[in-house]
Amino acid sequence: MNTSSGTKYIFVTGGVVSSLGKGIVAASLGKLLQARGYRVTIQKFDPYINIDPGTLNPYEHGECYVTTDGHEADLDLGHYERFLNISTTRANNITTGRIYQNVIQKERRGDYLGKTVQVVPHITDEIKRNVKLLGSKGEFDFVITEIGGTVGDIESLPFLESVRQLKWELGANCLCVHLTYIPFIAAAGEVKTKPTQHSVKHLQEVGIQPDILVLRTEHELKEDILAKVALFCNVPVEAVVQSYDVPTIYEVPLVLQEQKMDEVILRKVGLEIGEKPELKAWKDFLKMKQEAKDEVVIGLVGKYVELQDAYKSIDEALQQAAIYNNRKLVLKHIQSERIDEANVAKTLKGLDGIVVAPGFGTRGVDGKLHTLKYARENDIPMLGICLGMQCTMIEFARNVLGWTDANTTEIDPNTTHKVIDIMEDQKSVINLGGTMRLGSYKCHLTQGTKIAEAYGSTDIEERHRHRFEFNNKYKADFEAAGVIFSGHNPDSGLVEAVELPDKKWYVAVQYHPEYNSTVVKPNPLFMSFVRASIAEHDSK
Ligand code: GLN
Repeated sequence: MNTSSGTKYIFVTGGVVSSLGKGIVAASLGKLLQARGYRVTIQKFDPYINIDPGTLNPYEHGECYVTTDGHEADLDLGHYERFLNISTTRANNITTGRIYQNVIQKERRGDYLGKTVQVVPHITDEIKRNVKLLGSKGEFDFVITEIGGTVGDIESLPFLESVRQLKWELGANCLCVHLTYIPFIAAAGEVKTKPTQHSVKHLQEVGIQPDILVLRTEHELKEDILAKVALFCNVPVEAVVQSYDVPTIYEVPLVLQEQKMDEVILRKVGLEIGEKPELKAWKDFLKMKQEAKDEVVIGLVGKYVELQDAYKSIDEALQQAAIYNNRKLVLKHIQSERIDEANVAKTLKGLDGIVVAPGFGTRGVDGKLHTLKYARENDIPMLGICLGMQCTMIEFARNVLGWTDANTTEIDPNTTHKVIDIMEDQKSVINLGGTMRLGSYKCHLTQGTKIAEAYGSTDIEERHRHRFEFNNKYKADFEAAGVIFSGHNPDSGLVEAVELPDKKWYVAVQYHPEYNSTVVKPNPLFMSFVRASIAEHDSK
């Protein structure tokens, strides 16, 4: 497919303000190139000093996404996977911390042969090496690199300097797409281009001339505004595209395609334009979304619900599953901390299905336990994820088995009934540095269970992010009371999935199915859960 030679590198930078949706633009652009038959991958560089976002509180940084190879990653990687239906890895998310760590390790090993180690060239060389690493194996025609942060930030400078050098080295095989903002000033009744002009000047000051500008705007911009930006920023007018607010992020690829952004890119890197891709599956998905009339009402119970991005992948997986089932999703984020025995029925009233969210620590756990008891006793479809599954077992132990002190040792290390605990073989690992079970693991499902039916298979692979496990010592007690352990890790025997067969749909999993749900391939467990919730809705 590649007619001009070599992998093409596209950098996506951002200006004026943060939260413009660089990740969505990068993913949409990737989608358009992929739809033309090119092999595309996307990586994100984050300018913070943390080695990875694993230790970041969701209040700081939204959801922590997990790649198949067990890297705790920025949530933009979730967008890349959902849009492109590709699998990302550790190489797709690099932070300043990791760049410095690598350079310092090399320095300690003596790799720099006594030279003074400096930001330029040593840090910039390490950044460039990590960009090219993805392109070097010949697996991709395009490597899109999103540079986190905003142009003008002190911490972005080494990344921008690397982009400048790469543009120089790679010539036509390297492009910079700059995403900026065009505000509407209500008092003047006008949109303003000055912030965009300033942010492009900033880029030019560090030696980068952007090739394409994407203008984020709330309202569609007129041609003369695009022409004005083009004139002031040294960019041809066809290379100025706008990304106005649309009802769903999944429309962004179509907005960009309509303005031929992919064609501009192909022309710039010297590739043939070819036929305009139809994006049929994508458009079908959007059409189903538009046409869905009936609702399904789902409650997501967790402790970070007031944050827009804290459960991003779960929100998106539910959205996808609802759309594929021709329903409009009404998603209610419910703060678990506020749920108590007295208000649980009132709080959860009207829900067709309940998701009990993952989490760490004690806060909000009591509310999750009240929720689970209510869902179990009232037979409301329930999907428990990770801590949600662990709570499912604690609730059952306390209220059905009568072990009132049952707990996870994450919350109460001294309890007698440690139904959720750290397994012996993990303890040694934890003493070595506190690692979690992360990334994809195989799971064997028991034939004839709801979960096996959901997947249409008994052997699956899903991603994990946790330290604690169901304690197999109590398995027989739970089974005698009616619990089915429907999924196990085939190597370790650890419990991965549980269900209550006498309920309409009450399934909980130790893994995170939400990381593995894309626009063209929704996750089967979410599909099945949403179907059960729809049945609940329609039965009312
Ligand atoms: N805190 C739990 C554990 O570490 C669950 C983690 C999660 O829900 N992701 O095992």
